[in-house]
Amino acid sequence: MGYDDQNIFAKILRGEIPCDKVYEDDYVLAFNDIAPQAPVHVLVIPKGNYISIDDFGREASAEEIKGFYEAVSKIANDKGLASDGFRTIANTGAHGGQEVPHFHIHILGGAVIGPMVAS
Ligand code: 5GP
Repeated sequence: MGYDDQNIFAKILRGEIPCDKVYEDDYVLAFNDIAPQAPVHVLVIPKGNYISIDDFGREASAEEIKGFYEAVSKIANDKGLASDGFRTIANTGAHGGQEVPHFHIHILGGAVIGPMVAS
């Protein structure tokens, strides 16, 4: 199955739907999650059309991958999360509970995040 350019994050990237922007550069857009699960809950998405972390890891260029993960670190540091720690999550596909089929990493922090997998 190919990339669905009507997914909600594709629309946000094209500016068709607003977002609460946290950071943007040539490689990523980052914005606050609409339903935050922690005091800080930022979504980081690549500007390229990648469905999942699997698609991104297989298909993205070294430059895109470097740019993406540098931005994740920058955002975590800018938000003051690096010293106390934070969690990153990349839900993938049906078993991973991925709702939006454009690769995104959740950055969650600002408090103890709790168990890694909810029971
Ligand atoms: P997933 O389950 O795909 O890993 O996570 C999708 C996330 O996107 C959820 O945490 C959900 O709250 C968030 N989300 C869904 N629609 C929107 C939206 O229109 N704007 C923003 N900012 N977040 C959204």
